[in-house]
Amino acid sequence: LMSLAIGLVGLGAIARAQHLPAIAATGGVHLAAIASRNASLPDCPSYPDLAAMLAAEPGLAAVSLCTPPQGRFDQAMQVLRAGRHLMLEKPPAATLTEAEILRGEAARRGLTIFATWHSREGRAVDAARRWLSVRKVRQVRIDWREDVRKWHPGQDWIWQPGGLGVFDPGINALSLLTTLMADPVILRAAGLDIPEGRQTPIAAQLALSAGAVAIDAEFDWREQGGETWQIGFETTNGTACLRDGGAVFEADGKPAIGGEDVEYRRLYEGFRDLVAAGRSAVDLAPLRLVADAFLCGRRRLVAPFDETGHG
Ligand code: NAP
Repeated sequence: LMSLAIGLVGLGAIARAQHLPAIAATGGVHLAAIASRNASLPDCPSYPDLAAMLAAEPGLAAVSLCTPPQGRFDQAMQVLRAGRHLMLEKPPAATLTEAEILRGEAARRGLTIFATWHSREGRAVDAARRWLSVRKVRQVRIDWREDVRKWHPGQDWIWQPGGLGVFDPGINALSLLTTLMADPVILRAAGLDIPEGRQTPIAAQLALSAGAVAIDAEFDWREQGGETWQIGFETTNGTACLRDGGAVFEADGKPAIGGEDVEYRRLYEGFRDLVAAGRSAVDLAPLRLVADAFLCGRRRLVAPFDETGHG
């Protein structure tokens, strides 16, 4: 089988930390070009933007977008109109309508579209799913807290409309929740803490439910000295916790399951296999819950956020 030639767009934090090494480590795919406003890579054709890359690289079978959600729709449409398969960082678009249109466009053209949710590829997620499958869940508690200054330094787009604010990490928790619960998850209520002078929340509190199960979620970007990315489950037959964003699973009395980070390698394996099978994967459930929180959330103005200080 031929190796899938991939063009990468947006050489920011996640492209460098995860996409480049994952592509290099995955059989059946290879990096054929990049498009970046600022960067170039040695030994790799580098273009100032996506249009230039598509025009100069007719052999590029697929494009992986690692840019911010705002503006990603126009890039994604360019990719599909050029007849290339498409892989999207989370969230798949800035709005649900954009994401639906992309799914339809890919289907019409017989192209693969893969809306990725990297947390779902966490090493311990399958263990959590197996453990839950033979139990009746009573209650779920999500804690997703990190220091925005540590994890998103200089990222202005997260504070702009469409940038999601604390839902940028929080949507990872929702991507796990929606794949682990037996019933569809719905939003009951939400509180959004928005710093004065900013457009997106620095913290959010969600009340959700899935069937008879009550779910509470706390997302917070004001955490200092370490991060917590965990989902706790209380069932009729024991308690358990999926920790470290999906890398570790602990059920009471049982040793933790964990190990090396495999998320992005699994994403590129998945993309390769979807293309080979002529299939697509677009699950909008996590983005829908975020949209619901923005539709129905109660807004609270909180202290201004100063990127450099500790205010
Ligand atoms: P980032 O560090 O800000 O990088 C985004 C890159 O996109 C920029 O470096 C830039 O690359 C390009 N870009 C194109 N148009 C841009 C614009 N108008 N404003 C800013 N950048 C623009 O962001 P990131 O953390 O890599 O996140 C990118 C996507 O990956 C987001 O959807 C995010 O949710 C997702 N993600 C991030 C993480 C993480 O831990 N950081 C984890 C998982 C997923 P060039 O200069 O090369 O053009």
